[in-house]
Amino acid sequence: MIKNIIVRIRTSLKVITLIIIATLIIGCIFLYVYRPIYSVTLNGEVVGYTENKSKLQNEINQYIQGDGNNVAFVQVDNLPQYNMCLLKKGNVANDEEIFDTVKQQGTTYYQYYAITEDEKEKSYVATYEEAKSVTDELKTKKSNNISKIGIVKKYGTTLPQFDTTTKIVAALYVKPPAPKPVAVATTTAVYSSSYKPTYSKTENSPTNKIAIGITLNKPVNGIITSRYGYRRSGFHTGLDIAQPIGTKIKAAASGTVEYAGWSSSGYGIYVIISHGNGIETLYAHCKEVYVKAGQQVSQGQVIAAIGMTGNTTGPHVHFEVRIDGQCQNPQNYIYQRSLN
Ligand SMILES: [Zn+2]
Repeated sequence: MIKNIIVRIRTSLKVITLIIIATLIIGCIFLYVYRPIYSVTLNGEVVGYTENKSKLQNEINQYIQGDGNNVAFVQVDNLPQYNMCLLKKGNVANDEEIFDTVKQQGTTYYQYYAITEDEKEKSYVATYEEAKSVTDELKTKKSNNISKIGIVKKYGTTLPQFDTTTKIVAALYVKPPAPKPVAVATTTAVYSSSYKPTYSKTENSPTNKIAIGITLNKPVNGIITSRYGYRRSGFHTGLDIAQPIGTKIKAAASGTVEYAGWSSSGYGIYVIISHGNGIETLYAHCKEVYVKAGQQVSQGQVIAAIGMTGNTTGPHVHFEVRIDGQCQNPQNYIYQRSLN
């Protein structure tokens, strides 16, 4: 009787052992073919699979937080969701593709710094250190406008064109006032142009046409909205003539195009024509230009169209006359109330 019971127990133990071993073997085979993995869902759609959920999550989190340099942060509408599932072996996890998909739906916000003069943004740099080095150098050089220079932190979805600190200092530097010679009122200031960073300018009254050997024709007909001279915002180095966007701008005289293109410093898209003997004319805030540097142009030739590029509040051409690098009052030669 007792013997019988022992035999039964032994038999059932054997059966149980066999079942356990069989389960383990089947389990191993199953895990060999299938393995646990996370399916990743973004905006309700499965975008892929990852074996290492926390690594992928970390990568995405770091990306969203920005790089501490120019990428301030990345705005992502929805974060991916993870669900544990079994993936058939052979199908690979695609962490990189998932990361790319997240990147594609994100909006990157950049941070950078604007150097301002009179609260107007003049140039941009990538780091605060660069911005600081510009203001420090202007201070060291005792630039006359140092009290008006500032640094503003900016955010945006695009990065502006960065200038070198040397170039910015050259463009912003204003000589401290010289000990006064009594007779002639000569002022020195700086052009915002990146083309030739420093010019001096003379102020003389636009009563008589001054002979310069050439006749300047009006680049556009229109209302003069700002004349040459001191303005609240600083020295206005040219004449503003208002006309609707797209109005043709004509060369004031024949000459060679010295520059045609973009300036980040306030002129926007602009053209400079050299007429020989040190005489130059400049046309700024254009919508587009139709000439290239080095090209010969004839008087009255259409060189550009009126726009609103650069620092401007309305469509107009900013027209300058420069002689030997000195900015002149254009109304000495053109747009004179009595003579033209
Ligand atoms: Zn102007």
